[in-house]
Amino acid sequence: MKITDIKTYLMQVGARPGLSGAEGSFRGSRNWLFVRIETDEGISGVGECSGWPRVIERAVLDYRSILIGEDPRDIDRLWQRLFVGSMGHGMVGTVGGGALTGIEMALWDIKGKALGQPVWNLLGGRFRDRIQVYGHAKKPERARELLERGYKAVKVGFTGAVDLDLVGAIRDTIGPDIDLMVDAHGPSWMTTRDAILVGRELEQHDLLFYEDPIAPENLDALERVRDQVAIPLAAGERVSTIYGIRPYVQRQLVDVIQPDTGRAGGITQMRKMAAMAEANYITMAPHSGSLGPVAEFAALHVMATIPNALMLERVEFDWQGRYEVVDPVLKVEDGHLPVPDAPGLGVELVEEEIARYPSERNVSDMPQNDGAYEPGTVDECVYFQTRLRRGSRLRLKRTGDK
Ligand SMILES: [Mg+2]
Repeated sequence: MKITDIKTYLMQVGARPGLSGAEGSFRGSRNWLFVRIETDEGISGVGECSGWPRVIERAVLDYRSILIGEDPRDIDRLWQRLFVGSMGHGMVGTVGGGALTGIEMALWDIKGKALGQPVWNLLGGRFRDRIQVYGHAKKPERARELLERGYKAVKVGFTGAVDLDLVGAIRDTIGPDIDLMVDAHGPSWMTTRDAILVGRELEQHDLLFYEDPIAPENLDALERVRDQVAIPLAAGERVSTIYGIRPYVQRQLVDVIQPDTGRAGGITQMRKMAAMAEANYITMAPHSGSLGPVAEFAALHVMATIPNALMLERVEFDWQGRYEVVDPVLKVEDGHLPVPDAPGLGVELVEEEIARYPSERNVSDMPQNDGAYEPGTVDECVYFQTRLRRGSRLRLKRTGDK
């Protein structure tokens, strides 16, 4: 079997056909990039690349010169050729990671289809036939809606400082038996000491994990938080490959690693990350965030086959187009997604639907959306700006406060 062609499908997420611009979350900048690899035996495989999709599309097409004519079943060998082939561009980063990932995912899809087996069955078989997912809530009412849909785990995320009162209100709403997580989104605008103070205040809410309490590249600071906060920590959504996740695991900086299924480097890289984590008593909860539906299928195959699978992130209240661009569509039942049984990944692209949403924009311009570059506030949009709005937005409750 030989690879004959590689096609890309780039689309704007949140857009309405015939209208410029986009609506929904991610400030109108969200794109999905799908890949199809074709072979001379009529079998094709699909994958998804996340990170910076418009730029990654070019990287995927650049890799064509290495892949055309190769046997798609030699997945690991081809991955190494691609990895080394782009080494001169520097570290793989999010673009290289995304390109490697979508291609590798499509190769697994081809192999599964060629052998008539779901991908999980080529990875050592499965531990489980459904994977627990968690949803997002920024208000208690949304948390209640998730529970009504069967969710058993809820995450509250903050783009400014962590609002401790809100975390408490959501915990009160969901009760003690539902898992609760807090994502601080790697806030370079809080000091390490702030992250520790917030973490100590969060201890009372019995969290499953405290995610990205500190800018994720600031590993020494993460170590300080770990040593002084009695909540499991989670991180890793922005790194690619086993080399990116290595310090988090090797230094035991976190209790949960969160590789992004669209840019971690591929299915095998995620399985290797999971094994590194397992050896250090760390679990895995893949990042989803802005990801599309193909990567979600890949995550389910990975999660089915690793012993230390914690749960999978899911944007439950997503843009409706999510349920139109692929077939079949996954639905949460009893807080879980089913592990697909069809050969390969078990998902196909609906190309006509994807074509209705051409890519228009793939970067966020925060002030354009938030109002102004207001000095000394989040809206000033400088990456490093400590103790921002701490007085008003970081509501630390002290013992004895009413
Ligand atoms: Mg996150």
